Amino acid sequence: MKDCVFCKIINKEIPSITIFEDTYTMVFMELNPSAPGHLIVINKKHGYSIFEYETEDLGRMMETTKKVSKKVQKALSADSLTLGINHDEKNGVPHLHVHIIPRWDNDKGGIIQSIVNNKPKEDRETIAERIRSVN
Ligand SMILES: [Zn+2]
Repeated sequence: MKDCVFCKIINKEIPSITIFEDTYTMVFMELNPSAPGHLIVINKKHGYSIFEYETEDLGRMMETTKKVSKKVQKALSADSLTLGINHDEKNGVPHLHVHIIPRWDNDKGGIIQSIVNNKPKEDRETIAERIRSVN
């Protein structure tokens, strides 16, 4: 996509610090890292949400995420990792991507649920039934 920052990184129009690259996927250092070793994993095919990708494409992205996650955790002796998938352009760059964020005990980071604080007004069973009823 012409105006997509991540597509420009794939095409080398914008420089990046690349960690891994194969035919289908690419991993580079986050420009504004939340932690040391914060990485971005993308599929080289442009798409802004999971609905635009074939299951095979998503599988390749997760395979790369797994491979690089092991490396970054080991390299930086991280206690854990937070993995977050940004889907849809409301979440920043309009190109589906996975954040790999190394975590350490006492790093003052929160759990992934701390990103949103929009407590439901209906009970969980009612919401679950609405979700189940969609074909
Ligand atoms: Zn793109």
